[in-house]
Amino acid sequence: MQQYLQPDKMSTRRQFQSKKKTHRTNPLLCSPSTLILPLGLPGNPPPPSSQTPSTAHIESTARPLSKLGHPVVILISSDGFRFGYQFKTATPNIGRLIANGTEAEHGLIPVFPTLTFPNHYSIVTGLYPAYHGIINNRFADPHTGEIFTMGSHEPKWWLVPFEERVDTVLGYFDLPSSEIPIFMTLYFEDPDHQGHQVGPDDPEITDAVARIDRMIGRLIQGLEKRGVFDDVTIIMVGDHGMVGTCDKKLIFLEDLAPWIEIPGDWVQSHTPLLAIRPPPGVSPSDVVAKMNEGLKSGKVDNGKNLRVFLKEELPSRLHYVASDRIPPIIGLVEEGFKVEQKRSKRQECGGAHGYDNAFFSMRTIFIGHGPEFARGQKIPSFENVQIYNLVTSILKIQGAPNNGTQSFPQSILLSSP
Ligand SMILES: [Zn+2]
Repeated sequence: MQQYLQPDKMSTRRQFQSKKKTHRTNPLLCSPSTLILPLGLPGNPPPPSSQTPSTAHIESTARPLSKLGHPVVILISSDGFRFGYQFKTATPNIGRLIANGTEAEHGLIPVFPTLTFPNHYSIVTGLYPAYHGIINNRFADPHTGEIFTMGSHEPKWWLVPFEERVDTVLGYFDLPSSEIPIFMTLYFEDPDHQGHQVGPDDPEITDAVARIDRMIGRLIQGLEKRGVFDDVTIIMVGDHGMVGTCDKKLIFLEDLAPWIEIPGDWVQSHTPLLAIRPPPGVSPSDVVAKMNEGLKSGKVDNGKNLRVFLKEELPSRLHYVASDRIPPIIGLVEEGFKVEQKRSKRQECGGAHGYDNAFFSMRTIFIGHGPEFARGQKIPSFENVQIYNLVTSILKIQGAPNNGTQSFPQSILLSSP
């Protein structure tokens, strides 16, 4: 439904004009690893002490907490968990969350560019990348020249086994009730890691999905053992999807030489987000015009699968203009195609993401399970900038201004009893 796709433009714009820097104090902002928030933020009501009522066939009100003294949200992110992966194999534990919770029936829509860092920051801030500032996985700050990189995101740096990450979160439920953090995150770098190497349809993905499901099972069991499974809110998402790529679907910038020379050092990222910052003195609109002329000429291999824009002329639904970190020239690549500087002998097939968030292959999952999520409810797809308001609403804390719609939480959550 359209209303879920449109952020509350008027109010966010006003908020940004008046309180430009408020997102720096965002209580949920973190890097996508494990984050723990202590209790003590304002607005936590005393817990109702009544027993969980037996579920009627149609629920309308949230179920009261039976054991925990305050709401707790565990936000789980499985990197590159494309929507539909849950059907690749038996996923009994994810299935249990879906059956007893609320699911975005056709998936969660990532923000553009559909890359890991921009999306994780959007999930925990409710802001589009232009506003939270992480506009790519790697970019140069135009003022200082400093390079931001997600190098530390490579799997080799993640030394903590998945089981241990789950157990760390479970361990916090052994603390005295008042010391249990209100917000925890669990991050798994799979199945993204396999998706890049082998593409989304390889049996390796099936194994990775089964493993993620086992981790969800471990979490559920641990929470059940502690008698808090029904009290805890679990929100399970991915950051983006994945699409198969192959080296016959390539566009080479060197092929544009008859129209315009694009030196490698103008290019901040090649694929699937082509981002170009020409040096001062070179007109970006001139570059765009010449590139598009070449791409449309029919003389550049796969040229029609790349369209180049001045960032101000990108479709507004991408929200990818309002930051000077975003280079002036952005290319949109057709699903499954890649852009490279020059020809090579490589013959590889794999997977990629980062494309236009309108592609279904870029969608990921959203499942909400807990006292405020109706059991077995299906909701239309929505953008992940809505999740922040959802979390702050469940935790009953005041969030920072953001691009999500203020009324979104009440449109999908059960009302307070
Ligand atoms: Zn990835």
